Amino acid sequence: WYTEGPKAKLFVEQLCETIGVKYGVLAPNGTLALYLALKAIDIGEGDEVIVPNFTFIASATAVLMTGAVPIFVDVDRCTLQIDIKDCSRVLTSKTKAIMPVHIYGSACDMTSVMNFANSNSLKVIEDAAQAMGVYWDGKHCGGFGDVGCFSFFADKTITTVEGGFVCTNDEIVYEKLMYLRNQGRLNRGTFIHPEVGFNFRMNDLQCAIGVTQLAKKQEIYDRKNYLRNLYIEKLKDIEQIEILGHDESSNIVPFRVCISTRNSSDDLANYLAEKEIQGRTFFYPLNKQPCFQKNEKITSCQDLSDDLFSRSIDAFNRGLCLPVYPSLTEEQVEYVCQCIRGYFGAV
Ligand SMILES: *Cc1c(COP(=O)(O)O)cnc(C)c1O
Repeated sequence: WYTEGPKAKLFVEQLCETIGVKYGVLAPNGTLALYLALKAIDIGEGDEVIVPNFTFIASATAVLMTGAVPIFVDVDRCTLQIDIKDCSRVLTSKTKAIMPVHIYGSACDMTSVMNFANSNSLKVIEDAAQAMGVYWDGKHCGGFGDVGCFSFFADKTITTVEGGFVCTNDEIVYEKLMYLRNQGRLNRGTFIHPEVGFNFRMNDLQCAIGVTQLAKKQEIYDRKNYLRNLYIEKLKDIEQIEILGHDESSNIVPFRVCISTRNSSDDLANYLAEKEIQGRTFFYPLNKQPCFQKNEKITSCQDLSDDLFSRSIDAFNRGLCLPVYPSLTEEQVEYVCQCIRGYFGAV
């Protein structure tokens, strides 16, 4: 078995059990998982999908791939999750779906998202690429919407190097996913294709890695949290820094350790780079993306003025991501924190 075989079957079963959903299919990566999920709930040309302005660009480009248009809304200042209060502003007769993105390892307020979606007859597609092990009110992210999407890219909590997953509790959506991902048929080895579909397979080599990763998922979650708490402990008295918080109803499995400085974080980032500490900026606000500002499909449907997105822009300007991964050592965290303390003169 080189392509999808027994390991793929096992990986899917274990993912469904972990997330608490009835059905799931693999995809080559998280971006294509989002595309597949959008197609399976009939999103396409002429439709608008609400997407938070603060996310990795693939949330929005997956919508564009279907022919639909992503419409941006701002995020909550404290959690950086989609701000449901900003969503009514962008509703039109073309709005078909909303894509909450569980950002940086904690959950969106899914109670508000589902209420808003239900009262406006919108489909819900969860971008849970960063949300393995993340729960809202005791329920795993990805299991709330019509479809939920995960990524197993190299830096995600559970990785298969590249890989993706779409889950659903709806049998009809599941059947559409199956046809779309497997050349428009349910089984391989037959050459009669009832539907038009494509190739969205992973392979058993990747899935073997995935099964091994899942077997130690709790260890990975716990280690990342332990390291984040170590950062918090060692930085808590530095007044110039805030560490990104999350809603009480959500846990966290830190995708990054996200800090905010009082003004621009550029100087600190450069200072740490000189000390051989690799940080990451926050995600660049989608309304400011050069590729979207020159995309007529996007600009003709919405106002991209900065004043509508002040919270995501402010977060980008002041934010900095610190490294957090299971093999990072206590000594390395200590070194990063010492350098930050040195920068602020708090040695
Ligand atoms: C990683 C990521 C994706 C895309 O996943 P790939 O596997 O890299 O294609 C989409 N959305 C978010 C929020 C992500 O973090």
